[in-house]
Amino acid sequence: MTREFQVQGVRVSELARRYGTPLFVYDGTALRDRFHGLRDRLHPAMEIFYSLKANPNISICALLHSFGARAEVSSLVELTTALRAGVPPQQVIFLGPGKSRQELAACLDTGIYAVVCESIPEVALVDELARERGVKAPVALRVNPRFAVKRSGLAMGGRPRQFGIDEEELFGRTDLVKRFPDVDLMGVQVYMGTRILHEAVIVENTTRILDLAERLSDALNLELRMVDVGGGLGVSYFDGESDLDAQVLTDGLNPVIEDFTARHPGTRLIMELGRYLTAEAGTYVMGVRYTKTSMGERFAVADGGTHHHMAAVGIGSFVKRNFPMAVLNRLDEPATEEWNVTGPLCTPGDTIGKKVPLPPVRPGDLIGVHRSGAYGPTASPGLFLSHGYPAEVLVHEGRCHLVRERDRPDDLLKRQRLYDPTAQDNTTHER
Ligand SMILES: *Cc1c(COP(=O)(O)O)cnc(C)c1O
Repeated sequence: MTREFQVQGVRVSELARRYGTPLFVYDGTALRDRFHGLRDRLHPAMEIFYSLKANPNISICALLHSFGARAEVSSLVELTTALRAGVPPQQVIFLGPGKSRQELAACLDTGIYAVVCESIPEVALVDELARERGVKAPVALRVNPRFAVKRSGLAMGGRPRQFGIDEEELFGRTDLVKRFPDVDLMGVQVYMGTRILHEAVIVENTTRILDLAERLSDALNLELRMVDVGGGLGVSYFDGESDLDAQVLTDGLNPVIEDFTARHPGTRLIMELGRYLTAEAGTYVMGVRYTKTSMGERFAVADGGTHHHMAAVGIGSFVKRNFPMAVLNRLDEPATEEWNVTGPLCTPGDTIGKKVPLPPVRPGDLIGVHRSGAYGPTASPGLFLSHGYPAEVLVHEGRCHLVRERDRPDDLLKRQRLYDPTAQDNTTHER
């Protein structure tokens, strides 16, 4: 019998039969191992917050929370997701450069641990909302630091950005604490960039962020009850990349954390991780509909594509690099051919894999994109050509759970209205 990709003993052909394709499959054991691989080595004072942006599925959030993760959210729905997943408000922080009044009000009304403010006008709005409610709003300041991260996939600090408040500016704002009496300025947050694959860079960032937080708290006379050192821990996707070594990373980080906690024993330390926690645990499974050749190249036209997995087109690079891919139902067959793996969209950009080494592909095969648990459908143009959202299945402790239903045509059409040419202006204004 041919060897098949399995998740905790459940064969991929069985998953495809039960749930259809395209499909995202998450392995709960892989999620747990990933979380604990870091948690069990990391200094206990450093708390791990899960960045829902990477994968906002409520069951993924709940499962990570059951292992000990807290939540970092950036929209009203992400906040609601985290709370419904069972994360207590005191384990939730909210950040993002353009929070609405409604979102900020929800932060105060639900009693989350901290609102991470990214501009002075935002602090002023929080101050106003807190006064209306007769509460003191816990606010951490996101700093856009002077220094930039080296060797990250996407740098955030050290240049003009919509994120955070420039370090130079903040040091001049010594009146902040007095100016906003209903705001409890309690911490500092810095996020340096994403997809970092060098342990030493993360250690250096953390050291500099903790140092910046200390200097800032002295200069502004703010109590340092929390420092959020960001994260940006990457996973390897492409040839030539290698994964972070959790042991090497924590061997470097822990003394820095220990040093800081010795001086600030009451300060809560936070690391925000999205991709690192979820990427490896997810596989995107597509069914092959047709195979053909064009001008000498082979094409496998699949039922899934870049509308669910934009990242696979190639992130942070102009050259197409392929995610790890395989014909999941015939794992033991050698990759003797090169295949372009494409989807149903009417654009040449809908190419999930270019010249991927695969065994001979046949219609009905299941092609998988590994390491796809982060920045999948929610970071992709899912409405392009109206195919909508795929199904998502979590396999945990040997059981399969449908954690997201596939969009049906009615789901995609129900918010559109066919105009009536004879009707008066009956626009319902939405806010
Ligand atoms: C996107 C983002 C994260 C999560 O990033 P990953 O690279 O997925 O870990 C964390 N913090 C902030 C501020 C972000 O913008």
